[in-house]
Amino acid sequence: MTRTTPAPPRIAVLGSTNMDLVAYVPRAPRLGETVTGRAFRTVPGGKGANQAVAAARAGARVSMLGAVGSDDLGPRLRAALAESGVDTTLLRTADGPSGTAHIVVDDDGGNAIVVVPGANASVTGLTPEDEARIAAADALLLQLELPLDAVIAGARAARRHGVRTVLTPAPARPLPRELLALVDLLVPNEHEANALSGAADPRAAADGLLRDVPEVVVTLGAAGSLYAARGARPVTVPSRPVRAVDTTAAGDTFTGALAVALAEGRPVPDALAWASAAAALSVGRAGASSSMPYREEIDALTG
Ligand code: ATP
Repeated sequence: MTRTTPAPPRIAVLGSTNMDLVAYVPRAPRLGETVTGRAFRTVPGGKGANQAVAAARAGARVSMLGAVGSDDLGPRLRAALAESGVDTTLLRTADGPSGTAHIVVDDDGGNAIVVVPGANASVTGLTPEDEARIAAADALLLQLELPLDAVIAGARAARRHGVRTVLTPAPARPLPRELLALVDLLVPNEHEANALSGAADPRAAADGLLRDVPEVVVTLGAAGSLYAARGARPVTVPSRPVRAVDTTAAGDTFTGALAVALAEGRPVPDALAWASAAAALSVGRAGASSSMPYREEIDALTG
């Protein structure tokens, strides 16, 4: 008897690709001041690329849509995505610099960040190939690090083709109703949920957000996550206890894995538990996308 494995889900990510340029300093400089740093690292990042890596490592066939620059960072960003199995054939190369995040981390772990969108700013809409890739996907992942016109165009294309749209509303900003009306699942963290709804309590925030979107997951850091859907009782899912080493990109790991589990048709509580395990694995190790777990590791933890 032959056993057939179901085909992996297809996920399209329309979002940012950045290189994080990280300087470690005893303390951050004031304006006009120079301080000597202890170390420097370049780390591939951007919320879009991070979610793409998380979903690919979690077992999906992932296409990255967006742009890198024509500088020497472009090929490095592309290669980092490909290394985790992300398809970059539709990732454009725009004239000019790649997106960069200039990060200063001090000895207390505090940070200051300047993001320069670079090539990401050139993505203002979809190509016909982008739209075809979205149409063929089981889910489209969106964040807010591309121009809003592109985000809306992506969500519209997904709706036209009956593809589930998952939006991470980060960085927090006011959102047009037009965009929220096209979102199937909104995944804010506590701060973004508060900014969008005006409610401080996550449950009240989720309730408020359900006026605009049918499903919400509010991530609560070490306190876990809260799932709410119209007409259903909210569910709180605890996080997996772990010694936190580096929480960078915990949210992107969570969202990438959640999208994979939901696209595989798993029930919501199982999908949330699986995504929490993925996020805990990444929190327990140093690094951003480099610390994201592979499917076997998530399965091993969830047994
Ligand atoms: P980031 O901006 O760093 O990507 P975020 O603010 O978007 O993170 P969080 O709410 O901090 O997202 O975390 C997302 C999920 O990751 C949580 O719902 C939880 O499951 C997991 N997580 C975060 N921090 C911890 C932790 N200290 N221990 C275990 N799990 C954690």
